[in-house]
Amino acid sequence: MTSTATPLPERLRDRDLLRDAAFVNGQWIGAASTFEVRDPATGDPLAVLPSLGAEDARQAIAQAKAALPAWRALSALERSRILRHWADLVRENADDLATILTSEQGKPWGEARGEVVYSAQFLDWFAEEGRRVDGSVIPSHTPDARIIVIKQPIGVAAGITPWNLPAAMITRKAAPALAAGCTIVMKPAEQTPLTALALTRLAERAGVPAGVLNMVTSGDAVPIGAEFTGNPTVRKLSFTGSTEVGKILMQQAAANIQKLSLELGGNSPFIVFDDADIAQAVEGVVSAKFRNAGQICTGANRVLVQRGILEEFSAALRARAERVRVGNGFEQGVEMGPLIDQAGLEKVERHVADLVDQGGRVLTGARRSPLGHTFYEPTVIADVGTGTLPWQDEETFGPVASLTPFDDEDEAIEMANATEYGLVAYVYTHDVGRVWRVSEGIETGMVAINSGRVSNEQAPFGGWKQSGLGREGSSYGIDDWLELKYINLAGLSR
Ligand code: ADP
Repeated sequence: MTSTATPLPERLRDRDLLRDAAFVNGQWIGAASTFEVRDPATGDPLAVLPSLGAEDARQAIAQAKAALPAWRALSALERSRILRHWADLVRENADDLATILTSEQGKPWGEARGEVVYSAQFLDWFAEEGRRVDGSVIPSHTPDARIIVIKQPIGVAAGITPWNLPAAMITRKAAPALAAGCTIVMKPAEQTPLTALALTRLAERAGVPAGVLNMVTSGDAVPIGAEFTGNPTVRKLSFTGSTEVGKILMQQAAANIQKLSLELGGNSPFIVFDDADIAQAVEGVVSAKFRNAGQICTGANRVLVQRGILEEFSAALRARAERVRVGNGFEQGVEMGPLIDQAGLEKVERHVADLVDQGGRVLTGARRSPLGHTFYEPTVIADVGTGTLPWQDEETFGPVASLTPFDDEDEAIEMANATEYGLVAYVYTHDVGRVWRVSEGIETGMVAINSGRVSNEQAPFGGWKQSGLGREGSSYGIDDWLELKYINLAGLSR
């Protein structure tokens, strides 16, 4: 980690990781038009990248199709070795990748480095899972036949990723795709393409063949999304981003009945029961609300606190929030960076204004940071009513913890479920019976008990309701990239 004043290339051990081109069929390519990537902490330009269009995306899809037969024909072990090599290179270059990531995304450097290592874990995990893609033999209703079930790669896939986890969201899709024997064309978020391109450079060095992994950069996502969904060669689209865009893509994908994995928004409840360890619950909120400045789909959007501990919990959270050090992610000891852009900042301000207008009591924050740009202060607001924006199914996507009291378990479950989303719920209690009742009563894909985190490569990440379709990570995560085929093997009698 070096001074924030040093230009990005000079901060890197290996400047070759900083790419200014898209990657299609093993070639680094430019385009007639370009777009700029900026550092959210300073507003300074970092890079100018090619803005590819629909025709470029079509070419990339054609190349992925051409690369498919040879990639699919490799043994799972051969694909696994390449993925492992890629994982090793990601770990060896973790410092540089973290520096690129913090520069374009803003999160603290240590957190960025953690994300880079986490992104390598998806490569390792799916290098292993790819080798365990097996099938089954089912007894038939006729004695002279057997029913055989095999799994095959789905084919050419596409991926669209967001800016909040610029490394992990790339490998969480590319690793299972490649392990399963698919080829893929990806479009990283326009705010954070440099991390994706650096990872791609390492994939190239690891021996991923030309056309197998393609990275299409663009300042205009719409024509790329239209091509990804409208092109019949693309058999599957995996998207992580907003529910709003997820719905658009799902409508577009209907034309070809394209298979979809969608990791969309959440409106996560964070429930603190009166038997909870308050210090632990406060740290949980810090993790689930202030990490990445609240810009995570698993962010705690509604903190529900049992009335008996409301005062004590609020005071402890306020004191902790006031200690969260905000600053440029390259400075030592910084716990929270800037928001990604002006639009993100304005959304947070709109939410805070609404919370206050509707009777919310500001315990701390609720204003822009004196650091300027898109920095916002860690905020805690109490007495939040259920008519406010976070309760009306909007993710704040910022460092605003809004507290609402509840009286009993049934009420907590009902309030937690009062949303169209169903990604994750956080629950703090030490009562084992309650752990089961609440976990089973809540309509989400994930429940975190006494923890502010749920994401890891071993577990199935994904949501219920409008939070999405499919699962990423875990042994279930590879299924989204495979098709089942049943073979009726008859005529076995002599
Ligand atoms: P956010 O609001 O957090 O940026 P988005 O859902 O807008 O979330 O963005 C997530 C990803 O989806 C980004 O890569 C973005 O470029 C892409 N995207 C946005 N709109 C579209 C669209 N209409 N079609 C395809 N991709 C899109």
